[in-house]
Amino acid sequence: MYSTDARVWKDNAILLPEQATISVFDHGLLYGDGCFEGMRFFNKKIFRLDDHLQRLQRSAAALTLDLPMPISDIYNALAALLASTPLNDGYLRLVITRGVGSLGLDPSRCKTPDMFIIADALQLMPIERIEAGLSVITASVRRGNGDGLDPRIKSLNYLNSILARLQANVAGADEALMLNQQGFIAEGSAENIFLVRDGMLLTPCDTDGALAGITRDTVLQCAAELNIPIREQHLTPYDAYTADECFLTGTGAGLLPVRCIDGRPLKHCPGDLYQRLHDAFHKRQRQL
Ligand code: PLP
Repeated sequence: MYSTDARVWKDNAILLPEQATISVFDHGLLYGDGCFEGMRFFNKKIFRLDDHLQRLQRSAAALTLDLPMPISDIYNALAALLASTPLNDGYLRLVITRGVGSLGLDPSRCKTPDMFIIADALQLMPIERIEAGLSVITASVRRGNGDGLDPRIKSLNYLNSILARLQANVAGADEALMLNQQGFIAEGSAENIFLVRDGMLLTPCDTDGALAGITRDTVLQCAAELNIPIREQHLTPYDAYTADECFLTGTGAGLLPVRCIDGRPLKHCPGDLYQRLHDAFHKRQRQL
């Protein structure tokens, strides 16, 4: 449930959640036709805003979805929402939909794309659960490759991830890892993945079926600063089972240490590299 502090930008107005509505004919709702960004703000400043808006533009371009307004107006809408929310720190969800169309899925029938932005408090995973480390499973649901919906598009269609997450729920696990069509690890259902082996930080390339996460990129920058060696490479479940450490990263999640994968405990949780990168990331995120 949203909090009493939640506010929504829509049609150039700041609304309470109850006042913000969307048409039942919007193709974002009917077909998942649209894209979005999830961002965090601290002291009313958005962490890596330009990078989020760049990824949004790429997602929209890949879907041949016109942004409903010039990018400068999107910056202004975000600023207006931040000025009006009672929250100093929180989470933003910026959603672009194909807009209202007929009941057929043909996007050419949708004349005007739509946009709304939600600002609310972030519901973090309880600290005890993070400190205990996550139990993850490998989902049988796989990430598609670029033949279909490219996982690098942050689209409104998350059913593939949701199917994986359902498997984790049934297994009593906290999260699911997803493999790509070749059997390489792509990412979690909504986070990127890192492994640590012999002091080296390993992560799949986004071409292995992962979203190019902004948290992932920030962790890579922190690792470079700390002189931690990094390798972006194919990773298999064997690599994960035999790693020294594993952690997941995402805007909402932050950095989450993994305790076990498919019932196999990791050597360290939370590990030394996780801790160093977590601290460096935390510092960077709040140095806006
Ligand atoms: N992978 C998927 C599928 C995601 O949905 C997300 C974020 O929502 C991420 C990775 C992490 O990306 P970011 O760090 O930019 O939030």
